[in-house]
Amino acid sequence: MARIKKLAIANRGEVAVRIIHAAQELGIKTILLHSQVDVGTRAFRMADQTICIGPATTAESYLNIKANVDGALAMGADAVHPGFGFLSENADFAEAVIKAGMIFVGPKPESIRKLGDKVQCKKLAEEAGIPLVPGYKGDDQSVSGLKDQANKMGYPLIIKAAAGGGGRGMKIIYDPKETEYQIQSAQREAMAAFGSSVVFLEKYLDKAKHIEFQIFGDSSGKVVHLFDRECSVQRRHQKIIEEALSPSLPEELRKKMGQVAELIGSLAGYQGAGTVEFMVQNGEFYLLEVNTRLQVEHPVTEMVLGMDLVKAQILTAAGEFVFPNDFVRSPRGHAIECRIYAEDPFKDGIPSTGVLGTVEWPEAYGRRFEYGFEKGDEITSYYDSMIAKVIVWDENRTRALDKMIFTLQNCRIMGVYTNIPLLIEILRHPNFVDGTMTTQFFSKFFGSHLKADPLTDDEKFVLEEAQRMFAKSAFTPDQATGQAPVASPWSGAWSQPGGGGN
Ligand code: ADP
Repeated sequence: MARIKKLAIANRGEVAVRIIHAAQELGIKTILLHSQVDVGTRAFRMADQTICIGPATTAESYLNIKANVDGALAMGADAVHPGFGFLSENADFAEAVIKAGMIFVGPKPESIRKLGDKVQCKKLAEEAGIPLVPGYKGDDQSVSGLKDQANKMGYPLIIKAAAGGGGRGMKIIYDPKETEYQIQSAQREAMAAFGSSVVFLEKYLDKAKHIEFQIFGDSSGKVVHLFDRECSVQRRHQKIIEEALSPSLPEELRKKMGQVAELIGSLAGYQGAGTVEFMVQNGEFYLLEVNTRLQVEHPVTEMVLGMDLVKAQILTAAGEFVFPNDFVRSPRGHAIECRIYAEDPFKDGIPSTGVLGTVEWPEAYGRRFEYGFEKGDEITSYYDSMIAKVIVWDENRTRALDKMIFTLQNCRIMGVYTNIPLLIEILRHPNFVDGTMTTQFFSKFFGSHLKADPLTDDEKFVLEEAQRMFAKSAFTPDQATGQAPVASPWSGAWSQPGGGGN
């Protein structure tokens, strides 16, 4: 590639690996900008060059603009890919990269500013006549002013931080008696977490689906949508399972929402990959927000469209990606993604840390594994506990669903507990199977952690055999996690189908 020869990656884990794969295929050298504890992880081993930009704490490394820019410059990078999370939606970072003479793989800083702040984005959308969740996003940030607005709107309602993200900084209010207290605490938390105390109010939609559209702006300025993803399975407002296309979106609505998504992208002069998020309730759609970056769930769109979004991002940033005039989007089949977290599904999902033992992904046609850690890598408590994503594609949703369950049942992850048993339970739930799940689905049916079934005689036998085997080997589950093996078909020393055991 003419303009990009060395790409610095300001990220870690599976997304860093994903970007390295795309860069390698384009003949671009990669530089991993990593923290002290990420030495030796999969991305560290795969990158052509690496540079440590700071200690484990994110504020000093992955969220430190100067450290990332200096690191990239020191290694001779001509472009920087921010991945997702961390600095990926930070307009100041994009600007600093550009000012330092490098290419930022993402939208222009102005586009990030226009769309990234939720209040600004809603104002832009409102001017264009795009439907928003009813609410208050005015300048009066006094507690009494906000309280008046809340009482006018009615309950339940949700308070959000204008600069918030990642499902954090949101409070749902059911009882007007709580309003004042909740507004104050939301403002305090927003200030602490996002550096701005600006909040806004929205009607809380309690029977809604989360449906989002992938948009992409090419090097010529043309913005197209690349269809939708359904992400209604969420825990604490964070997505766990995503699919493309949505199983429940009527064609007419899909068409309208796709047009709206393209319109927003065009209004912001959008370049590269972005996501326009909506809530859909009773046949009406409402704009939620725009994410000015690649999403965790981008692979499901890639699988149904046969398009590599990360390569397209890099080529666009280099000025070399233009949709052909006769570009036709024709999604094929169905794709599902499950996020694999290192956590104990039987203990309310508390993070599980330790050194990974054997990790085996059951590779086959239509199965894709995006992972940042391999045998011997340590899962620490410094970062998000998502360690991998499993993505499947098949001809239709029923087959894709069966394929996902089978695939998860055959993943082997030793050394940490994982949420795989929980994912399988969700995938088998009638409301997931029939596609009617809303964003309340998880808290309604999976609010309390899973109960481990008692072991059958066969399972007890296998568990004892596995424990005998481990006792003889140098690596034992106990050493890895500091946890005693749990007598459960899912979380014992052996990883039975579906188990993310020690
Ligand atoms: P973040 O940027 O933190 O991800 P979003 O505004 O995208 O926040 O919302 C994340 C999730 O929170 C949504 O997918 C939805 O499940 C829930 N949510 C947000 N706003 C509302 C609302 N007005 N009514 C009901 N649920 C909401």
